[in-house]
Amino acid sequence: MSAIEQMYQQVIMDHAREAHGRGLVDLGLPAVGESHQVNTTCGDEVRLRVVLEGDIVKSVSWEGQGCSISQASISMLTELIEGETLEHADQTIEAFRALMQAKGEGLDEEREDLLGDATAFVGVGKYPARIKCALLGWMALRDAIIQAQKGAPA
Ligand code: ZN
Repeated sequence: MSAIEQMYQQVIMDHAREAHGRGLVDLGLPAVGESHQVNTTCGDEVRLRVVLEGDIVKSVSWEGQGCSISQASISMLTELIEGETLEHADQTIEAFRALMQAKGEGLDEEREDLLGDATAFVGVGKYPARIKCALLGWMALRDAIIQAQKGAPA
């Protein structure tokens, strides 16, 4: 394992150990969306809640269980997306999907900047069976945003 792979591994383990955003949050705002996603091949599960205020993702919170990759990925997306605009969230989700499809190669600088720590998952793209683990939370995020937009005041 190369030094950079070891560093990435450490980032993932840190997030898996001390997950951010765990525990569903209720801010009393109307635009709330939730998504429940399961990765049956590994046994990962997440219920993720998004609260929107205008075009800002005010809160991302979740409950879940599963492997280190799935839990660390959800923790990181919570940090990356909370407080950002919907447009920024969409771009970040797309960048993460691209990272998973890159077969272990990196992305362009602009998209790696968007992903920050989540770039640590680049190596997962080499293992198709684990891509579902890493993507689970991001699929829940996208779905929860769509649900929240339905509940947003016109
Ligand atoms: Zn997993």
